[in-house]
Amino acid sequence: MSHPWIADRIHLIDASGIRKVFDLAAKMKDPVNFSIGQPHFDTPVLVKEALKKAIDEGKNAYSQTQGIRPLVERLQQEIAPLGHENRQVFVTSGTSGALNLALLTLINPGDEVIVFDPWFVMYKHLTNLAGGIVVPINTYPDFQIDVNQVEAAITSKTKLIIVNSPANPTGTVASEANLKDLAELARKHRIALISDEIYRLYCYDSEFTSPTRWNEDTIVIDGLSKSHSMTGLRLGFCHGPAEVIEQMTKLQQFTYVCAPQPTQWAALTALEMDLSDVVDEYKAKRNFVRDNLSGFEIQGGDGAFYLFVKTPWGTGTEFVKAAIEKNLLIIPGNVFSRQDTHFRISYASDQRTLERGVEILNEMAKSGG
Ligand code: PMP
Repeated sequence: MSHPWIADRIHLIDASGIRKVFDLAAKMKDPVNFSIGQPHFDTPVLVKEALKKAIDEGKNAYSQTQGIRPLVERLQQEIAPLGHENRQVFVTSGTSGALNLALLTLINPGDEVIVFDPWFVMYKHLTNLAGGIVVPINTYPDFQIDVNQVEAAITSKTKLIIVNSPANPTGTVASEANLKDLAELARKHRIALISDEIYRLYCYDSEFTSPTRWNEDTIVIDGLSKSHSMTGLRLGFCHGPAEVIEQMTKLQQFTYVCAPQPTQWAALTALEMDLSDVVDEYKAKRNFVRDNLSGFEIQGGDGAFYLFVKTPWGTGTEFVKAAIEKNLLIIPGNVFSRQDTHFRISYASDQRTLERGVEILNEMAKSGG
């Protein structure tokens, strides 16, 4: 029963799927945890030192809402090679902050927002909160974008497409050809395109590609949470057409105010780091899990740190329930999708955990339910 003060819009967020999983997980002792959506390493020492230095130097107050000038300039430099004259950047409170501001800035009530199923959970909930209507495009079984399906879903109400490559929860990197077609389709129909590039660093089998290459008006949301293991430090950024960025910045002034100032100084250090070792390590983890699972159908998984695996028996929910009984924590596919046929693995863990998890899953596949 809801409290009488609660507004209707809050009920548009249905967190029951994930809550059920975490309720079950709360009873587990030392679980083999394959559910974690962040890197397993701590924030790099150099970043922590820069953060402490900023705090000690008293850089703890509000910053300008668009971000401290050195960071904005540094990010502007980063996007300069795109060669888009009208592209502007600002610093946000995490990628989630950027996403929320973008949706509130772009969506009118009743506008349709195209997302790819399976999706990152926030897309659905934040679109609903902004008064939009989610239009899911099915990407099973290979999780690649079928642009013809997108074109067929476009109506006079379509306002926005959200694309996420590499993707959560499938780990899929969209092919260059599909991204190009999608970017051009959005441009042709004058539909806004948001590209969530938070897993940009984690591409194992091909180079990262952004739809900005083919569509100057793409709104990119990005951040350091996953690349630098800074999820609690809340550092995101967003770049796109200056007119959109200005309205988003105005809204930030009256909502998040700014990203934490010490974190912004630490980000200057983070952006200078070479993270190729991290990518190699996660690629090896991906290979280990994918090569050692037997009796499972796996597609995608060429990026991020997730595998979205088809259950060998039962629904996603049934399979996850059985896994939790065996002390393995995974997430059922219906948390991210209209269908309940898969489960999500995060392999952002140490080697021992990966070995234990793979063993449990292989036993489960063999047992046949
Ligand atoms: N986008 C995707 C696809 C994600 O997986 C996440 C984090 N799970 C975010 C955005 C939000 O990240 P943050 O707000 O920490 O930058």
